[in-house]
Amino acid sequence: MSRLQALTFDLDDTLWDNSGVMLRTEEGHYAWLLEALGAWRSTRREPPLALGQAEGMADYLQRRQRIAVEVPERRGDFTWLRLRALEAQLEAYGLPRSAAILWAAAAMNEFHRLRVQVTPHPEAAGLLAALGERYRLAAITNGNIHLGRQPLAAYFSVAIAAGEILAPKPDPKAFLTALSRLDVAPERAMHVGDSWHEDILPAQQLGMQAVWIAPEDVAPRALPAGVHRLAHIRQLPALLERVTETSHSIGGANH
Ligand SMILES: [Mg+2]
Repeated sequence: MSRLQALTFDLDDTLWDNSGVMLRTEEGHYAWLLEALGAWRSTRREPPLALGQAEGMADYLQRRQRIAVEVPERRGDFTWLRLRALEAQLEAYGLPRSAAILWAAAAMNEFHRLRVQVTPHPEAAGLLAALGERYRLAAITNGNIHLGRQPLAAYFSVAIAAGEILAPKPDPKAFLTALSRLDVAPERAMHVGDSWHEDILPAQQLGMQAVWIAPEDVAPRALPAGVHRLAHIRQLPALLERVTETSHSIGGANH
């Protein structure tokens, strides 16, 4: 077993609880759009668009799903899908194309502002700072979170927005891109994430070690060699000590 040199991290539901954030972001950026657009139109003595929050959001979702089917190679690029869907919706409801493009972009700016209003686990910053002294660290996320606006961004030398490179996890390209930018072989890296299918299986299949963040109420699974289970990210340093100690017989470190 070779020495670990790098750790890669999923973000949502690994370094923070994502519950609530997506809902607030989803509703919030759309409500902002309707309000700001209505105010802009009223200064121009134009009536508000015939779009309400609930029906407007339902139509927006349907448009995203339709565009993802029509342009399958962009189906993982959620920011792109949202922009195209909003532009099409605003145009369909009467905005000139140029205004639709500007307002869709403004709404997505608000989306990204709300999307980073996450509260990392209180241990996360200290943990990453300490780990960063021993390992190279990367973030690999499928979320369309703007990594540069994230308070934990400074701890990662590499950050992969997997959807934006058109390789959302479990696509191995997301992991291989991170490993190549970290300049580390898969066997010398460990991925930490909460999704069995998007984080753990692809990492394990590439030959990385993996840590599955699964709260106690998640059903047990048989853990392949090199895969560990923790209930919370705060337990990671202790696990790394055990793995390092038993690195000559990693199979014995499966918990
Ligand atoms: Mg996750």
